[in-house]
Amino acid sequence: MSNPWHRSIGNITTALKNRTLNLFLKSNCPLCDRAAALVFCQYCQRQIQECQLTKPAQYWQGDLPLFAWGKYEGAIKRSIGKLKYDGHRSIGDFYGEALAAGWQTFAPVVPTKLIVLPVPLHPDKLASRGFNQAELIARKFCQMTGAKLDLSLHRTRSTVAQFGLSKSARQENVEGAFALVNSSLKPGDTVSIVDDIYTTGSTVRAIASVLRSQQINVCGVAVVAITERDN
Ligand SMILES: [Zn+2]
Repeated sequence: MSNPWHRSIGNITTALKNRTLNLFLKSNCPLCDRAAALVFCQYCQRQIQECQLTKPAQYWQGDLPLFAWGKYEGAIKRSIGKLKYDGHRSIGDFYGEALAAGWQTFAPVVPTKLIVLPVPLHPDKLASRGFNQAELIARKFCQMTGAKLDLSLHRTRSTVAQFGLSKSARQENVEGAFALVNSSLKPGDTVSIVDDIYTTGSTVRAIASVLRSQQINVCGVAVVAITERDN
């Protein structure tokens, strides 16, 4: 039978070992609560990678080209929910980095002096959420790619959530909702819009039309995930 003193020393040693280990394991995975060395545990990271698009630049064409890192489903969908609604900001960094890596690998043709505009939240939404997920993603994207972050695009009118609205209702919902405020952007500048999710594109089209009316070139949109396309 082991001595209780030795047992308790043993417990303390195990606890210390675990603590030391935890110093290296950043935090628990926001999706499954397992220990994670990076943002996600290896298991969830693999699941996220399974939702990654093999050709993220396949929609980089037409009037408003689109670059999409992954599909809005499975682990990507759950992790974006954790970012937005549970405040796991490190997920924004994770996707900003992933989007930048994809962008650099597939290199859509864009000017060298690219300016990145995250899709803004209405000030009320920003106040209740505490951060804009598109801005977190765009900030990291700019750090990785050397693009310039510009935060002068504002949502001037509150809009209802686009989810569940028809295509035409979505368009009406976001029309006139965006404006540049105290902006240093000038005619001839080239920008790309960054957001977390792309559904029908009504939001980014409304933004592009505001920018283009001021002779700002919108080369395209970069998003973390795209929902199933209806065309
Ligand atoms: Zn996990």
